[in-house]
Amino acid sequence: AHGTERHLQELQEQLPIANARKQLISLVKAHQTLVLVGETGSGKSTQLPQYLYKAGLAEGKSIAVTQPRRVAATAIARRVAQEMGVQLGAEVGYAVRFDDRSSTATRIKYMTDGMLVREALIDPRLSRYKVVVLDEAHERTLPTEILFGLMKQIQEQRKGGLKLIVMSATLDAAKFAHFFDGAKVIYLQGRQYPVEMLYVSEPVDSYLDAALRTVVQIHVDEPSGDILVFLTGQDEIETLQRLIPERSLQLDDAESHGKMLVVPIYAALQPEQQANVFKPTPPGMRKVILATNIAETSITVPGVRYVVDPGFVKARSYNARLGSDSLQVVPISKAQARQRSGRAGREAPGKAFRLYTEAAYLGLQAASAPEIQRVSLASLALQLKQLGVADVRAFPFMDPPPPTALARALELLLALGALDQRGALSQPLGAQLVRLPLEPVFGKVLLSGAAMSCSEEALSVVSMASTDPVFLSSRNKQEVSTEMRKQFMSPLGDHITLLNVLTSYMKVTKSERGRWCEERLLNARSLRKALEIRGQLREHLLSLKVALKSCGDDLEPLRRAILSGLFMHAAILLPDNTYKVIASGQIVSIHPSSVLSGHKPRCIVFDELLRTTRNYVRNVTVVEPAWLPEIAPIFFQNKGSMVGRG
Ligand code: ADP
Repeated sequence: AHGTERHLQELQEQLPIANARKQLISLVKAHQTLVLVGETGSGKSTQLPQYLYKAGLAEGKSIAVTQPRRVAATAIARRVAQEMGVQLGAEVGYAVRFDDRSSTATRIKYMTDGMLVREALIDPRLSRYKVVVLDEAHERTLPTEILFGLMKQIQEQRKGGLKLIVMSATLDAAKFAHFFDGAKVIYLQGRQYPVEMLYVSEPVDSYLDAALRTVVQIHVDEPSGDILVFLTGQDEIETLQRLIPERSLQLDDAESHGKMLVVPIYAALQPEQQANVFKPTPPGMRKVILATNIAETSITVPGVRYVVDPGFVKARSYNARLGSDSLQVVPISKAQARQRSGRAGREAPGKAFRLYTEAAYLGLQAASAPEIQRVSLASLALQLKQLGVADVRAFPFMDPPPPTALARALELLLALGALDQRGALSQPLGAQLVRLPLEPVFGKVLLSGAAMSCSEEALSVVSMASTDPVFLSSRNKQEVSTEMRKQFMSPLGDHITLLNVLTSYMKVTKSERGRWCEERLLNARSLRKALEIRGQLREHLLSLKVALKSCGDDLEPLRRAILSGLFMHAAILLPDNTYKVIASGQIVSIHPSSVLSGHKPRCIVFDELLRTTRNYVRNVTVVEPAWLPEIAPIFFQNKGSMVGRG
């Protein structure tokens, strides 16, 4: 173990940031706010917090380091604990939603930005911390945006008692510095070798096909070095994970090219599996890393010489017509394209294979819009209210959100009953909603469930909605699984079906659960996670003094509870078997994966909209049109006539 520590120490000392250690410490001592700009992989996230801690800057309190992504927070915390030779959860820990590995002993705490916002809701001065590091600030996520404004206010209140360090991988530092009244800006000299850009000459039909071909071609034609492929999600990663080995076996002279070792990295992966991507590539092999956007700036994978970039990313964006967010695969920005290709030149000159034309590259947006400009602001507005911001428009935003988006968010909160007529948090509902680690609409499902004596069922529904899909698909086993799954399927829809799955799962003894899932082609990890989340949400309900009850076989109260949160997503059947979303007028279809696909209930609610060739909705429940005006009177007052007929 000692050998590893020494080895780690050597690696740490080789990082570009190591030369700036002394300078950084004295700058942090001298300035209240620092903006640190440095190339991805230069050692900012892992090293700077250690420098500050060892220099005594935590002064007996703690250093908070925020990350927009869970995977980054947990992986970096693990690494730093290892580097410091301490147990994870002792001096070094992390906290992400539904997973807390920190203790009172924790002095360097990695956390998602959303978790630090949650801490601020309870302790508005963040009095446990001496230093707050907002990492990956260039990502401009919603919680980081709140933290910008909040830190500005707290720093005034604590008069020099709280240091702030804003870290970013892009050169857009002037804006941060300006917002924090002329904060000191430091540029960290990184190492970057030249990267040769290769474009396709004509647009590709399928970027997944093109990615597959390109990986194999690199493997055959190019000298050693690992390949990093940017994909948009777990589905695509799993597809290539299957196809790359198949394709490489078909190579004429497969043996002479050596083997490809395919390793995935995405948020839902188990931590042990995530660790695989950091392991050195065995001699004679070539590692192919299939990554989501996480490898763009959050996580640096060593050994990469070739980058394959299809040019797309899955992004959450606000759909103004629908009044809520949907996930969409969208083209990346120029800044993202540059970050991605840069990953090929960290250790030696490299090559970036862009699966789009040069003309297409030139047509990309310079940078993607901050999240605050494009996502639902309901939870932001709710949190600001709790933070004592009476008029949310007056909050010091770095870039103020569109006024209409903020107005919509307040309308939704009003319709949910989270705000009273004066616009303050309602009692008890609004105050309870803000305490739950859930989007307000799902929080409402849970609290309505409690009010309607079905909190046990509502807990299951919300937990299943908070985890990854549980139904696996596999070509050869499909028949078996359909048979085995029939027992869960409910004519009332997907939420109830998922409830049935979780209820059955909970009855299986722990040691049997793995096999039980396998036989039914269910994702064991998702179910384990759902159960964990359920346990934590249950604790939250208990701490809110909410009674836990079950409605047994009568599921009407549960369906009403679901509707009470998701009413913005209520939709009515049209003669052509599509559905019209009442709130927005948008036309949608039930996704083929839904148990209700092919059925034609008159009125539905759904929790997810997917935009592909058409608007599909997933996770659907059958409801009665007559419930609408009872459940959300404010909202359906004017739309009553439309709902009444049918
Ligand atoms: P930056 O924040 O400037 O992007 P980091 O501090 O994240 O840089 O990374 C510094 C180095 O530490 C990189 O070379 C990276 O590969 C390595 N590293 C980071 N996390 C891990 C981990 N969990 N396991 C192994 N190596 C890691």
